[in-house]
Amino acid sequence: METKTSSSNFIRNIVMEDIETGKHKKIITRFPPEPNGYLHIGHAKSIIINFQLADEFSGTTNLRFDDTNPAKEDKEYVKSIEEDVKWLGFQWDNLFFASNYFDEMYKRAVLLIKKSKAYVCDLTADEMKEYRGTLREPGKVSPYVNRTIEENLDLFDRMRKGEFPDGAKVLRARIDMTSPNINMRDPVIYRISHAIHHNTGDKWCIYPMYDYAHPIEDAIEGVTHSICTLEFEDHRPLYDWVVNNCEMESIPRQIEFARLNITNTVMSKRNLKQLVDEQVVDSWDDPRMPTIAGLRRRGYTPESIRNFCREIGVAKANSKVDGQLLEHFIREDLSPKTPRTMAVLRPLKVVITNYPESQVEMLQIENNQDDPSMGTRQVSFSREIYIEREDFMENPIKKYFRLFVGNEVRLKGAYFIKCNEMVKDAEGNVSELHCTYDVETKSGSGFTGRKVKGTIHWVDAINALPAEFRLYEPLILDDEQEDGKTFLDQINPNSIEILQGFIEPNMKDSKPNDKFQFFRHGYFNVDNKYTTAEKLVFNRIVSLKSSFKIQK
Ligand code: ATP
Ligand code: MG
Repeated sequence: METKTSSSNFIRNIVMEDIETGKHKKIITRFPPEPNGYLHIGHAKSIIINFQLADEFSGTTNLRFDDTNPAKEDKEYVKSIEEDVKWLGFQWDNLFFASNYFDEMYKRAVLLIKKSKAYVCDLTADEMKEYRGTLREPGKVSPYVNRTIEENLDLFDRMRKGEFPDGAKVLRARIDMTSPNINMRDPVIYRISHAIHHNTGDKWCIYPMYDYAHPIEDAIEGVTHSICTLEFEDHRPLYDWVVNNCEMESIPRQIEFARLNITNTVMSKRNLKQLVDEQVVDSWDDPRMPTIAGLRRRGYTPESIRNFCREIGVAKANSKVDGQLLEHFIREDLSPKTPRTMAVLRPLKVVITNYPESQVEMLQIENNQDDPSMGTRQVSFSREIYIEREDFMENPIKKYFRLFVGNEVRLKGAYFIKCNEMVKDAEGNVSELHCTYDVETKSGSGFTGRKVKGTIHWVDAINALPAEFRLYEPLILDDEQEDGKTFLDQINPNSIEILQGFIEPNMKDSKPNDKFQFFRHGYFNVDNKYTTAEKLVFNRIVSLKSSFKIQK
């Protein structure tokens, strides 16, 4: 794979040392998504770290679905996650489901009870909160802490059998209610939930909590380096406690890194789900979404995402990356590989009054000015063409070199045209321009008679294909919110603009996900959802220059 591993990666140093000292012969990493939503670009960072580390040190990587919470999980998400990981360019060595370890987790919980390291507690959620204490005050011991081993074994068995309703009882680890680390104050490790699980159906009505389940999952799989985000740093003592006290044979090591945040970008599955559920966007793969599926549909390539993640590196301190950086990497990736072509997004008709009425000529235009190896294409030219509305001004401002009555411009790859007259519709809007062309000025003819300052693009109106263009801005205006407001109050009302225009006729056989650079407009991808046999729909991936700013 061409993507290099980040040079300054402290996790890599740890792994290297573990191999040099002989602590591990072979490393095993895992990517452990909960199937409760689609993956976003933050997950891409985690995927890349885990797979590339294993790759570099000849280890293996598991894709493990951390499916211990039946309420929010779904098979649709499982499918999308597998697809996204593969699309990013990674293939797991093993595919696992945490729910397949439920029996083992249950056995280990029984072991904890037998060692007096766990007890069944009947406090309500509110009471439990009260007993937990605060950062300044120690917690109070639960009145149920002294149940006998026999009583605990019996109650836990009956919890499993479904004798109690949701929330009636929990199993707690018995650690230390006075610990300065709140996570160690007798955390809940099992709860009752009479829910149908996407994998285990109704076999279980008790489910393990993340902090208990995750270390056991890692240990069962022999994971050597369990890489997670910074918010789990305070959970590490509990992670180690579970591995030790459950007497797991294999001892994984948890290592935390800073999660990826990007400016003007929602980066939490919960919030992304809200955008879908409240129909702020069409779907999880809406091209405005920072999901892998959304980025793919927008036209991002796996290479650009991998290069972006490599550039930002792996750090121990949280920070926010400028969204322009991601745009930089997609431009860099697409620039050498995408053919240039012309599209008119906001059309204005031009009649070339001195061009023969029924004549159509084919002009040869290069597919990439900077790369002759990309060849040329034939573009039809005739008496009527479309240009961009913004390439004409009725009252030209200073230094406006494009069309206005009396001015001459170059049509990219064609002729010079001079505007003689504008035609207005009943409402007074300019509806058509009348121009004349100069046959001497044909592109490639070596004409040196005079110069013009403006070059504009165009498409032949007779043969042009209608097309739809979807232009995007960031979905979120500001990452910070005033008190009492949420990210939903920051939705950018201009996040999408849909335009009906025209493209060159030679693009008629384009397929979904074909990518082009439209002269002066940027990089576009053929949309795989809205494109029909009649009409191509394009998503603008990114403009030619930095566009990560918002029209307020
Ligand atoms: P979210 O907070 O968006 O809901 P999550 O952490 O709950 O995400 P999981 O499915 O539990 O999502 O995450 C799978 C893996 O991806 C975890 O190891 C997690 O640490 C990592 N991950 C999640 N978000 C990011 C991020 N923004 N940057 C880097 N890694 C992330
Ligand atoms: Mg989560």
